[in-house]
Amino acid sequence: MTDDLSREIILDHYQNPRNHGRLEHPTLANRGHNPLCGDEVELSLGIDDEHIQDIAFTGRGCSISQASASMMTEVVKGQTVDDADAAVQRFTERMTDRKPAATELEEELDALQGVKKYPARVKCALLPWTTLRESLALFRHREPVAVAGEDDFNCADAP
Ligand code: ZN
Repeated sequence: MTDDLSREIILDHYQNPRNHGRLEHPTLANRGHNPLCGDEVELSLGIDDEHIQDIAFTGRGCSISQASASMMTEVVKGQTVDDADAAVQRFTERMTDRKPAATELEEELDALQGVKKYPARVKCALLPWTTLRESLALFRHREPVAVAGEDDFNCADAP
């Protein structure tokens, strides 16, 4: 990918962020912060049946962090929690060592490869992904919600 195309993609996602905002009833919301340059990303996720049915982000900071968040939401939306975790892992590896993209949407992430020359900016690109990884860990370790079983329901209905 040429530098020009990379710049164009990053600028497009920065100026027209995809999945921007907050979900009304998120399964969980989580916030990430990059103290080096003050970037902030807040993710809200709607997870149903182990699938990320919906994801939205808000944030502020440099174009790399916000564009990366926008691209990330497109990549992981609709994926299972496991697949999203794997995508985070792949992206993290590709920012430090070149690894092939797994999907067409992930190919777009190559636009962020240019920042590898600047280690501080790699942290900007990784921020949303690190935040997603934390969110998925929170989801996995959430307190199980007590659900009334069918037996309970029948009991309550009985005379
Ligand atoms: Zn930054």
